[in-house]
Amino acid sequence: MPLYKAPLRDMRFLMNEVLDYPGHYAQLGAAERASPDTVDAILEAAASYCEDVLSPLYLSGGEEGCHFEAGMVRTPTGYQAAYQQFVAAGWQGLSYPAQYGGQDLPMSLNLLKSEMMGTANWAFNMYPGLSIGCINTLMQYGNEEVKSLYLPRLVSGEWTGTMCLTEPQCGSDLAQVRTQARPTGDGRFAITGTKIFISSGEHDLTDNIVHIVLARLPDAPAGTRGISLFLVSKHLVQSDGRLGERNRVSCGSIEHKMGIAASATAVLNFDGAIATLIGEPHKGLEAMFTFMNTARIGTAIQGVAHAELSFQGALAYAKERRSMRSLSGKKEPDQVADALVWHPDVRRMLLTQKAIAEGGRAMIYAAAQRADLLYTAAWAKDEAAYQHHDGLLGFYTPILKGFLTEMGLEAANHGMQVMGGHGYIREHGMEQIVRDARIATLYEGTTGIQALDLLGRKVLLQTQGRCVRDYTRQIRTLARPQLWSKGPLGRMARSLTWRAIQWRVLTLRVMLQARRDKEQVGAAAYDYLMYSGYVMMAYHWAQMAFVAQAALTRGQGPESQGFYKAKIETAQFYFERLLPRADAHRHMALQPAQTLLQTPSDHLAAT
Ligand SMILES: Cc1cc2nc3c(=O)[nH]c(=O)nc-3n(C[C@H](O)[C@H](O)[C@H](O)COP(=O)(O)OP(=O)(O)OC[C@H]3O[C@@H](n4cnc5c(N)ncnc54)[C@H](O)[C@@H]3O)c2cc1C
Repeated sequence: MPLYKAPLRDMRFLMNEVLDYPGHYAQLGAAERASPDTVDAILEAAASYCEDVLSPLYLSGGEEGCHFEAGMVRTPTGYQAAYQQFVAAGWQGLSYPAQYGGQDLPMSLNLLKSEMMGTANWAFNMYPGLSIGCINTLMQYGNEEVKSLYLPRLVSGEWTGTMCLTEPQCGSDLAQVRTQARPTGDGRFAITGTKIFISSGEHDLTDNIVHIVLARLPDAPAGTRGISLFLVSKHLVQSDGRLGERNRVSCGSIEHKMGIAASATAVLNFDGAIATLIGEPHKGLEAMFTFMNTARIGTAIQGVAHAELSFQGALAYAKERRSMRSLSGKKEPDQVADALVWHPDVRRMLLTQKAIAEGGRAMIYAAAQRADLLYTAAWAKDEAAYQHHDGLLGFYTPILKGFLTEMGLEAANHGMQVMGGHGYIREHGMEQIVRDARIATLYEGTTGIQALDLLGRKVLLQTQGRCVRDYTRQIRTLARPQLWSKGPLGRMARSLTWRAIQWRVLTLRVMLQARRDKEQVGAAAYDYLMYSGYVMMAYHWAQMAFVAQAALTRGQGPESQGFYKAKIETAQFYFERLLPRADAHRHMALQPAQTLLQTPSDHLAAT
């Protein structure tokens, strides 16, 4: 069973040696609040909560799942007690303003905490996780009355929140939303419609649930421009904050899913539910997408989480399980056979998992610093700074979400493979990780939708390639000092520089092709996203390798020599065995759309 151990050494290496978090927090004006000692204490406390409380509930929660009866949902055994501990420790308010009962720490710490909680138990993490989108939306768009009524209880974790976008006829295409909002004449609205697949839409962890709902006003124009945003509380909230009667929103059922069985995925029926408008009429989608970047980074973390957990399980197994002898001779002659970990093919799988988990973590932690800058600007109502950071984060987000969730799934599959037939058996938990990982490429925008967002919107439409030019410049700056070095670091620097140049060439060529044929954007998008992901991860692996080499050369650092060497060796593995996949994606991204579209759909099946 994969019991989670927080990778604190890796987290500290990234924060203190690679990404200079102390300097970053000083730049945010949070040097005192987020001092190295405070940050360390938070990491330690989160690690023990995740290891001791959440991780032991991972398998049992997945086996038991949620129970639905007469409109009520009961979460698996142990979830209520674990959630009470979460609330008592103030984890939900870590990065929210003190004004609402939070601890006023940078948002990045919230993301790091989510990584640990999500790795220990992703399904549990979704209950407080969905609240984050709800809190952020109210922080930005709620009026003072809404903020003072709802935020303190959401920030404390006493209530949770949801995001209600999806309807039976539409998920990706929210222009088709049909849920209606009718003014009731007293400044409030009545919401009628059905939302499906609503994570944490009903549960027994809190007395109240705050739903953020997309719906249409009677005079709404068609399409995305006619969607407004509403707050619907499961219980009506009185002016003194006490809970009143039950609102007209009910849970019709919960889904029976492939994975994350312990996370309740609800069908919610709104039958004239009393609602409050959030933000301006018809601008709901805009508001909903305000903090979508951070929500999507939250889902990108899921890729890292499953890669890490599966790696931990697979590595422990590969060191103990014995099978045949190493091809170059016995490695453990006093044993009946050598351990799996000696075999190159098993190493290939383990190192792929490690490279994805640690490379993905580095990508997330770098983006988390940008999220800090974004939130600081948002809370300070600094519109220009907000737009700037939102633009940059907007470029990283689809890459992180699309690429890391695809890679997380691959890593989870390798973990199962390392354990052979035992990996396929439920009691070991490795197959649960695969099933749980599968959803990550689907919700919060499928990989296909992320790819379109990256290439179509962020790269071509919004910046005409500027975001790629700027990012590849950053890559080349990192690589330059090592370009003429001998040995692995020099090879990494040259390989990275070449792929950075190719990224720009690819962008230009797709841009030119798209001028002749608009379908080319959709045809290239997935491969373009994967190319971008592989190169972005290579940037972070090179950066980690350079830092590790510097520590080795100095002969000192906070970590052991073995740790730094393993970093460089994993980077080498990444450059030699994973990064070359990017070239195939580049090649495929440039193939004509016609090959995909020429066969009439009636002729696709040969039945
Ligand atoms: C477990 C679970 C939890 C969820 N939680 C929530 C939640 O809390 N709140 C919420 O609102 N929703 C939630 N969802 C819904 C989820 O976000 C949607 O299922 C997802 O966005 C995809 O929408 P869809 O299912 O309608 O698929 P569709 O939009 O029908 O897409 C089907 C396929 O077509 C592709 N596709 C669609 N349009 C295009 C296009 N223009 N170009 C190229 N490809 C395209 C997609 O990539 C996908 O592969 C959840 C879903 C699940 C399964």
